[in-house]
Amino acid sequence: MSDLDGKNGLVVGVANKRSLAWAIAQAADAAGARLTLSYANERFGENTRKLAASLSRPAQLVGCDLSRDEEIESLFQAVEGEHGGLDFLVHGVAFASREAISEPFTQTTRADFQQALDISAYSLVALARGAAPLMERRGGGSILTLTYLGSDRVFPNYNVMGVAKAALEASVRYLAADLGPRNIRVNAVSAGPIKTLAAAGISGFSRILQHYRESAPLRRTVDAAEVADAAAFLLAPGSRAVTGEVFMVDAGYHATGM
Ligand code: NAD
Repeated sequence: MSDLDGKNGLVVGVANKRSLAWAIAQAADAAGARLTLSYANERFGENTRKLAASLSRPAQLVGCDLSRDEEIESLFQAVEGEHGGLDFLVHGVAFASREAISEPFTQTTRADFQQALDISAYSLVALARGAAPLMERRGGGSILTLTYLGSDRVFPNYNVMGVAKAALEASVRYLAADLGPRNIRVNAVSAGPIKTLAAAGISGFSRILQHYRESAPLRRTVDAAEVADAAAFLLAPGSRAVTGEVFMVDAGYHATGM
């Protein structure tokens, strides 16, 4: 593949080799893109530096805590300095406190609710606002986030993260409407369950995986590379007429009733 040849991309949310953001970075690299990788804080900096060394083109690395507006501003200054303009942005970020996803949903505190929606949904809006002027310089762009079916249906222990994903998916549609006239597309990939650091916080996650193996039309779960291939399509010109979409990559699980 080389349909991202000469394109500049920002990939936010690399924590380790299992991160979906990292799988997408690898797919974008293989498709020819030049990348900036962003990680939450120095705890993930070392990992990200090691991973980035395996890419075929040197990547810019920037730490950015998405709960801080000034760090988001610095991130885009760094991207502008490195690339000038931006063709795509990948948002692979979510956070909810351990309590918020283990206690009964009714017990969700105001602070945990606000934090989950801030990091997991509002951050897409903030990043889209920063990316848009850099994308305009390139004649348009593609913004992609990652979501889960827990936005629409109840899964055990997903709790406030389901509410955050509902807000995220609605944000995809509103951003698509806002930015479409500037030829900037906004989409989400809704991935089936995959064991990552974020997933490790959800107790009973293995049971969800098993349920997909038994019930999904393809009788299996999905892997990060499969999510990344779908993501690469949504980032590339082949999907130039697709925006405001939540694209299911879940072995067909979403289509089942029982
Ligand atoms: P992950 O833990 O590797 O990625 C989550 C990322 O969010 C990490 O890099 C983490 O550092 C980052 N993050 C958290 N708080 C942050 C903050 N304040 N500032 C900046 N970054 C912050 O796990 P993942 O599974 O790759 O998750 C990536 C995305 O994919 C998430 O939105 C997740 O909800 C979504 N998703 C995951 C699955 C799954 O089963 N793993 C399924 C569907 C969707």
